[in-house]
Amino acid sequence: MSKRLSLEEYRNGILEGNRAVLSRAITLVESSLESDAELASQLVQEILPSTGNSKRIGITGVPGVGKSTFIESFGKLLLEKGHKVAVLAVDPSSQKTKGSILGDKTRMENLAADKRAFIRPSPTGTTLGGVSAKTREAMLLCEAAGFDVILIETVGVGQSETAVKGMVDFFLLLMLAGAGDELQGIKKGIMEMADGLFINKAEGENLLLAKKAKANYSNALHLFPLGENGWSPKVLLGSSIVGTGLEEVWEMISEFEGITVERGFWQGNRENQRLNWLNEYVQDLLGKAFIADTRVKNLMEASKARIKSGELNPIILAKKLTQLFLKS
Ligand code: GDP
Repeated sequence: MSKRLSLEEYRNGILEGNRAVLSRAITLVESSLESDAELASQLVQEILPSTGNSKRIGITGVPGVGKSTFIESFGKLLLEKGHKVAVLAVDPSSQKTKGSILGDKTRMENLAADKRAFIRPSPTGTTLGGVSAKTREAMLLCEAAGFDVILIETVGVGQSETAVKGMVDFFLLLMLAGAGDELQGIKKGIMEMADGLFINKAEGENLLLAKKAKANYSNALHLFPLGENGWSPKVLLGSSIVGTGLEEVWEMISEFEGITVERGFWQGNRENQRLNWLNEYVQDLLGKAFIADTRVKNLMEASKARIKSGELNPIILAKKLTQLFLKS
């Protein structure tokens, strides 16, 4: 393991946009070592004033839909427009297997080679909450380092979408034409979360199918009630390989920003996200303290068999444990 830098070295390096220091700082916030936690939280506090100046975009879709291809092409387009792009990933699979579907080093090679881009593989962790907290902090560090578009990638199959939705401004769902929703493993809940859909691989023979899918999805989305942000989700199509439809995605996100900033929703959403961030930490810290409490541990151990056999009502034990924990 490389040596830690000082708080000042991390901060200055990040604020100068030094990608190597940024990378090491993300390793610091991802660390589960108790000895790193204090420095990591000080660092995040120090750079907070320099954060918030980016568009935060969540990108999801099942494996194979073309997320990394899309991000590579879309990312390059954004670089051409003069933006600096950071790509982060939330990948629940990496917790179990340590092998991650997202963010491995062989993906997005072209984008990764560009100095104006920064790509970070998914952190590993024991809980989704832990992984998403780390991703959120990594995002803030990237913003402080001057990246003004943050793309957060996630596999569109489970809970991690909710976590990512909770840290982005705009949530984009990638889909394929000609495969039913069930086949794509996309849950209705994820459709409801999306601010925009992009039907990928819409080229050649697939184009006609993609156009039909676009009409179908547009109809389906119109059945959902209009969000409080006043935005009606859009369906676009294109090809990440050919490079079509990507410009329209950026236009859609800009239009979304225009409308929601005017209505105060963009800012309000971020304010709520910060409050949720606090709540997540409170729950996390409480949970850890609870589990580490010896009295709680002892009673839990002593009652386990009766819970397992169904003899003891869990709610009664939960209350007892909590009362015990709260007694100082
Ligand atoms: P991910 O698992 O969602 O990240 O998907 P990938 O980006 O790895 O893409 C899966 C496969 O689809 C790869 O073989 C890509 O080359 C291919 N692919 C991605 N985008 C397109 C596209 O727009 N058109 C076509 N024809 N193939 C694509």
